[in-house]
Amino acid sequence: MLGCNCDTCTSQDPKDKRLRASALVRSGDTHILIDTGPDLRTQLLREGITHIDGILITHEHNDHTAGLDDVRPYNFRRDDDIPLYTESRVLENLKERYRYIFDKTYSTAAKLDPRIIKPGVTFTLSGIDILPLRVLHGRLPIIGYRIGEMAYLTDVKSIPDESLELLQGVSTLIVTALEPKLHPTHFNLDEAITLSERLGAKDTYLIHMSHRMGLHKERQRSLPPNIKLAYDTQVIQF
Ligand SMILES: [Zn+2]
Ligand SMILES: [Zn+2]
Ligand SMILES: [Zn+2]
Repeated sequence: MLGCNCDTCTSQDPKDKRLRASALVRSGDTHILIDTGPDLRTQLLREGITHIDGILITHEHNDHTAGLDDVRPYNFRRDDDIPLYTESRVLENLKERYRYIFDKTYSTAAKLDPRIIKPGVTFTLSGIDILPLRVLHGRLPIIGYRIGEMAYLTDVKSIPDESLELLQGVSTLIVTALEPKLHPTHFNLDEAITLSERLGAKDTYLIHMSHRMGLHKERQRSLPPNIKLAYDTQVIQF
C-alpha cells in the first residue's frame, strides 16, 4: 500500500511483496492471461513470457485492466490480433478507457480481437475449454473462470446458486480473501474459507489480499493446511 509503514508493507519476506492480482494459465505451449492489471508488464518480464494466446478479463476495474495496452509487443510475435474475452458490458467500458486501441487510431497500440463471452457458456481457446461463471462483486456482476478442476474467482462477494452448481467438482479453488474484516465488495477470510468448505476443494489459494491480511508467515500459521495464502511467482498445478 502506497504511503503505508505497517509491518506487512515494510516486510522483507518476498511472500509479502504483493503486486496486483492476475494469473497466467499454461498448458503445453499455450499461455492464457487472466486479467491485465497495472503490474502486468513487470510480472510478464519477471516470468520471461514470450507469447500470449489469449486474454480473459474478469471485470473492468483498474486493478484488473490498467496494463491492457502493455501486451503490444506480443503482437509482433503473431500474425493475428490477440483474442480478448470479455462480457459485453466490460468490453464497452474498455472501449471508453482505451478508445485508441479499439478504434485502431494508431498503429502502435495493442491489437486485440474482442470476443464476447456469456456466463455459463463454455468456449475453447487453443484446445482448452474455459467456462465463464457469474459472480457478484458487491452489486457488480463480474466473471469467474473455471478451467478443468480449477476455478479462479477474484473480487467476489457472493455467488449465485447457478454458479455454485457449475463449481461442483472444483478441486483447486483460487479465490479472493481481501482481509479478515467483512468488506462490502470482496470476500473476507472467513467467507473464502466457507466457500472452500462448501465446494469441498482439495486446495484453496487466497488471492487479492490487502496489507490488512498481515504477514504471510503469521497468517498462514493460523489457517488449515489446505487453505493457502497465494504469493507472487507461485506456480499451481491442476
Ligand atoms: Zn500497510
Ligand atoms: Zn474489482
Ligand atoms: Zn480487484
